[in-house]
Amino acid sequence: MSALNVEKIREDFPQLKTTVNGRPLVYLDNAATTLKPKVVIDQMTKHLSQDVANVHRGIHTLSEMGTRQFEETRIAVQNFINAREVHEVIYTKGTTDAINLLANSFGERFLNAGDEILLSQMEHHSNIVPWQMIAEKKGAKVVVIPVNDKGDIVLEDYKKLLNPKVKMVSVVHTSNTLGTTNPVKEMIKLAHANGSKVAVDGAQSIAHQKIDVQDLDCDFLVFSAHKIYGPNGLGILYGKEELLNEMPPYQGGGAMISEVTFEKTTYNILPNKFEAGTPAIAEVIAFKAAIDYVQKLGMDNIYNYEHELLAYATSELKKIAGIRLIGESETKSGVLSFVLEGVHPHDLGTLLDKQGVAIRTGHHCTQPLMKRFGITACARASFTFYNTKADVDALIAAINKAKEFLL
Ligand code: PMP
Repeated sequence: MSALNVEKIREDFPQLKTTVNGRPLVYLDNAATTLKPKVVIDQMTKHLSQDVANVHRGIHTLSEMGTRQFEETRIAVQNFINAREVHEVIYTKGTTDAINLLANSFGERFLNAGDEILLSQMEHHSNIVPWQMIAEKKGAKVVVIPVNDKGDIVLEDYKKLLNPKVKMVSVVHTSNTLGTTNPVKEMIKLAHANGSKVAVDGAQSIAHQKIDVQDLDCDFLVFSAHKIYGPNGLGILYGKEELLNEMPPYQGGGAMISEVTFEKTTYNILPNKFEAGTPAIAEVIAFKAAIDYVQKLGMDNIYNYEHELLAYATSELKKIAGIRLIGESETKSGVLSFVLEGVHPHDLGTLLDKQGVAIRTGHHCTQPLMKRFGITACARASFTFYNTKADVDALIAAINKAKEFLL
């Protein structure tokens, strides 16, 4: 018996009541973005209809209230990931923006010609391209940690790749394509013993398991609010204070300065040093409602329920002839990727959509991984706690119907 009352939870997500192409929505694209609970929508609406003001600058009532709420979210994030200091939590525009900030600023300060950056073969393009760009600028090199046929990082190869030139290991916690949850704690320990820093891309893990940055001992963690029931346009970069203090600002502008003269500008302290310009105020404030919501449900309850659902979906999907799973790690979480023999994933996705079932098809921003598995695209169903066995059954029925039509 699950500790979650999923029928009640579903009432909190208005979009689950909508229809698509005349059919009740079966939303299985949670790895792309999650639906929003009413508490988040209400907080956005309240802010935009009553509380609009800029933060940090004004002394009027609304600006002070906005600033307080804006900083309360930072404390909520600090507690949620168990950061030691609240100023170790930096607001960004999303995971992609956070990695660009990190690659540029860390790279500027710590990367030299001949240095190496280790990335796994299963990285999202967001955790590849920014590192390639800074590597090119600095004369450093991106080196790839291989993935085996099951979709796991080969730890023996990882150990061999660690050498004194490796300044950064940037690795995805849970793969958006394979679902593999990597042994980041062990990888971090090995990297630190080698003198390397580690960044964890938590875009796909943050909503599905408890993350404790002090327990992991990661140097950096990045994630997006929109993948954990919060608004778009907001992400988090967590970094250890001593590293963030050493790193130069990424962007210049308002809020990140201490004093500006035309001769020389001095910079603000953390976190403001990395937060130039007017931030996503309504989004930040509403994000606290999302964090409070998942904490009330309990991350362990979420983890257990979702794993049960994924196991059911996997066994049902395997019953369909011609299905090949992409990613069969024992550590899978939330994501079920597959190809159906003789059918292009886009055709399958289109026919599922006609039946109200929303999945994602394509390369999922992991082209090197597609190449590793000898495909150019696959279909992906991704689950969360408001999904049910009935959703899985609808997916399976829709695939069978599409198969009849296409084959
Ligand atoms: N990394 C991973 C593993 C992801 O799944 C995603 C989103 N698909 C990203 C990075 C990029 O996130 P965003 O588009 O929110 O910046």
